[in-house]
Amino acid sequence: MKKWNGWGLEDALPTPLAPEVVQILDTFFGGLQPYPDATFNQVLARVPSPKLDNYNLVTADAEDRLRHARGHSLPDWVALRSGRIDAFPDGVAYPSSDEEVRSLLSFASKVGARLIPYGGGTSVLGQINVIPGDQPVITVDLRGFNQLLDLDETSLLASYGAGITGPQIEASLNVRGYTMGHFPQSFEYSTLGGWIATRSVGTQSYRYGRIEDLFVGGHIETPIGQLDLPVFPASSAGPDLRELILGSEGRLGIITRATVRLSPLPQRESFHAVFFPTIERGFAAMRKIIQTRVPVSMVRLSDSLETENSLVFTGRKLLLSVADKGLFGIGSGRCLMIFGVTGDAKSTRLAYRQTSAISRAHGGFVVKHFIGNEWHKSRFKSPYLRNTLWDAGLALDTLETALPFSRAVAAFAAIKDGIRSAGRDIGEAILVFGHFSHVYIDGTNLYITYMYRRSKDPDETLENWRKMKTAASEVILKQGGTISHQHGVGTDHLPYLPAEKGVVGMQALSSMLKTFDPLGLLNPGKLIEN
Ligand SMILES: Cc1cc2nc3c(=O)[nH]c(=O)nc-3n(C[C@H](O)[C@H](O)[C@H](O)COP(=O)(O)OP(=O)(O)OC[C@H]3O[C@@H](n4cnc5c(N)ncnc54)[C@H](O)[C@@H]3O)c2cc1C
Repeated sequence: MKKWNGWGLEDALPTPLAPEVVQILDTFFGGLQPYPDATFNQVLARVPSPKLDNYNLVTADAEDRLRHARGHSLPDWVALRSGRIDAFPDGVAYPSSDEEVRSLLSFASKVGARLIPYGGGTSVLGQINVIPGDQPVITVDLRGFNQLLDLDETSLLASYGAGITGPQIEASLNVRGYTMGHFPQSFEYSTLGGWIATRSVGTQSYRYGRIEDLFVGGHIETPIGQLDLPVFPASSAGPDLRELILGSEGRLGIITRATVRLSPLPQRESFHAVFFPTIERGFAAMRKIIQTRVPVSMVRLSDSLETENSLVFTGRKLLLSVADKGLFGIGSGRCLMIFGVTGDAKSTRLAYRQTSAISRAHGGFVVKHFIGNEWHKSRFKSPYLRNTLWDAGLALDTLETALPFSRAVAAFAAIKDGIRSAGRDIGEAILVFGHFSHVYIDGTNLYITYMYRRSKDPDETLENWRKMKTAASEVILKQGGTISHQHGVGTDHLPYLPAEKGVVGMQALSSMLKTFDPLGLLNPGKLIEN
């Protein structure tokens, strides 16, 4: 069973932090205090009676309701760990057929209930949270839709139930020699439907594409009827209705099936590291690699602080000594770039050679595959560190945006400065670092992690987060970045969406939601207000 208030399974061993790392953190933050969390039973006792009549498809079990109450945003963590959860679903449904989903929609419209579609509950912007109010809320957990339904090996297409998780998808494909290639860091627990509804992106998006490149069709149960999205390799038959569903955050309908594109499993794959003397030189190399279309499968460039942290925090002394050894002319400001080469022997060799040559031409020091492969092996492990850091007295959040190459480096610095400056205003040191990890021909995403000291009062921890998040979001808008490259909107980005979409864009979104869901049954208060 998954942890109810953290990342991973209940019985997962905690990720250890080396004593010297605890010491470094303690010094940086000026003393850390591990305040105790509310226990499961304490929080369970606070789950109120449901505002809902009995219905055979819905359970009102308090534990089910608690386990579906919040996702993984920083406010979610504060709420779960402190037990200050302002609203719980009144019931949880586990449908496993379209008919059952239709029954739930019809029940909701009859009794005035609201439905929140739920995949893996890994969203980080409040997408699956209940907004407090008078109407009963039912969370619709789609785990029953977890089957491989069809595999077209000629066209390399597979259809799945939308509640299937990353490992379930890959297990069904790898034995047959295929991969979907979608590996978000939340891969272990997030689902196909959740990926589509939030426009998710995986660590090897450069090779395999974002979810919008992989999602080719499916079936959606909407409050006004069923929407089938037929599968075509391409179509010019007017606007593409898949775009309405992508990023819809459970507001237009419940996705029950989806068809996705596949790739053959690569014959070879390896990941390599390059150290650059500065972020600017690493960035120039990364841009050149992408814009000259070197066939890498991923590139990720960390700033100097993230570079050191990724080596020190994970207790990888061996990596650190490798990094320290022989990095001619590359000192403490070193920035680590990881790149992947995926394909057959010839293409991976070519990609490796071209990337190495470009990197060296930009002052990079190529460290073959040791550090790179380590990164690949542990890429789903870093979220577990959030549990350990929290227990040590630290709150951790991430945020992200995307900008054209011409503005990305300046924006990267400005966003980090904005967070640090908000930290100064509240009198706290903030550890801020980041990377560029999803690249396009014209630009890149910016992914920033920040940590700060938890306060004894959870409300203060939350308020401090709000100040930093607001500062970062305002800088992102000022710099002309999108409010979200991969995490979506939920409730936390909702105030910033109008600046990106404009008046007409917001009207169009609002009308579209009303068309599909005139009674406002689905996931109210997410994406746009009401
Ligand atoms: C540690 C961690 C790492 C992460 N790494 C990444 C990453 O690398 N890339 C990335 O893009 N995101 C990442 N995320 C964010 C999150 O995993 C994604 O947003 C993911 O797509 C959510 O999927 P889910 O199945 O958990 O959806 P949920 O959290 O359950 O739901 C998300 C939204 O989708 C809706 N929804 C879910 N299923 C359906 C359905 N079948 N029909 C209609 N609506 C539905 C929900 O109503 C909700 O609005 C990360 C999150 C965490 C906690």
